Amino acid sequence: MNLVFASNNAHKLQEVQAIMPAGIRVLSLHEIGFEQEIDETGTTLEENSLIKARAVEDFIHRQPSSVSSQIDGVFADDTGLEIDVLDGKPGVYTARWYKMNDGKQGETISEEKKVFGANRAKALRELQGKEDRGAQFRTVITLIRQNDVVQVNGVVRGQIATEERGEGGFGYDPVFIPEGYDKTFSELPIEVKNSISHRARALTELVKILK
Ligand code: IMP
Repeated sequence: MNLVFASNNAHKLQEVQAIMPAGIRVLSLHEIGFEQEIDETGTTLEENSLIKARAVEDFIHRQPSSVSSQIDGVFADDTGLEIDVLDGKPGVYTARWYKMNDGKQGETISEEKKVFGANRAKALRELQGKEDRGAQFRTVITLIRQNDVVQVNGVVRGQIATEERGEGGFGYDPVFIPEGYDKTFSELPIEVKNSISHRARALTELVKILK
């Protein structure tokens, strides 16, 4: 089975490819020649995940049938960090939280690594001095297959660390300590992250549907 994963994030692709069982080939957007930016205009993770999957599905439909007939479906994920004492923020705005200020958007940083760093700095700032550091990552995956749309969820609970720790992973990994561990996602081996992460859990639900 050939499924397109609606992302060009190399870290996510690696995680997804490691988790998917043999027999399911995961193609990146790059591999199918999809180079557009997708505007994530939704106000929920569910909406943004659907927007991404639909944009890629529309693109595949416009390809010659020699290409589109090789593809069995598309799936997209959207992830949010939901912090307990901030009533679930940044949620749908997790990727661009660093520039959100009272509903207004500040200046955009272009380099991904710097964006991740600015986001983590904001998380540490917002929780400075707070005792309750509970948070969760939530992933919503949308699968579109033969006009059928299905959404699944994956959640991992944890704590926001008081400082950045570790080198691995991406995004908020250096400040997220998953429940049951005393290390951040960045400090834990990738196999451990892949066995408990929000995305792994959502993917496990996705695989159940694919079988
Ligand atoms: P996306 O919309 O699914 O790309 O995720 C939104 C943002 O959540 C990303 O830009 C990252 O900052 C963060 N994020 C998503 N997944 C992870 C993860 O596995 N670890 C750390 N941060 C993540």
